[in-house]
Amino acid sequence: MLKKNHQIVALAVNTGALLPFHPQLPTVIIATAITILTANIPDIDIKLPFVKHRGFTHTIWSWLLVSLLIYSLTQSKLCASMVSLSYLMHLITDSFSVAGIKWFAPLTTKSHTLFKGYKVGGPTEAVFASLCLGCYIIFIIQIL
Ligand SMILES: [Zn+2]
Repeated sequence: MLKKNHQIVALAVNTGALLPFHPQLPTVIIATAITILTANIPDIDIKLPFVKHRGFTHTIWSWLLVSLLIYSLTQSKLCASMVSLSYLMHLITDSFSVAGIKWFAPLTTKSHTLFKGYKVGGPTEAVFASLCLGCYIIFIIQIL
């Protein structure tokens, strides 16, 4: 999934997760900033030498590690939950791509692909991202 689409999906999910807590606008702005900044953390492997893309950073272990690390560093439930959800949504949406990800590597090297759904940058991804953007806009309208 393209970088901007990972951000859109994470924005929709994170904002939707905030709704039951009746967030105030400053909270939504902070959550939005955190989400945009962290939605592509797993793809940091693209910039790291000697690290395979969709390797360790695309496993459940790295998700747990980053989530715990962020919470221990910030002691903020909002920040940790936004980062954790963003990271998890990145992994889930990458699982819908043709290539999939190896959730439990190195315990198993099987690549998990859900429905073999979309090709990165393809029309299915664009439609899904558009639906998520629509959800995000509806959520924001409800909050305002
Ligand atoms: Zn990725």
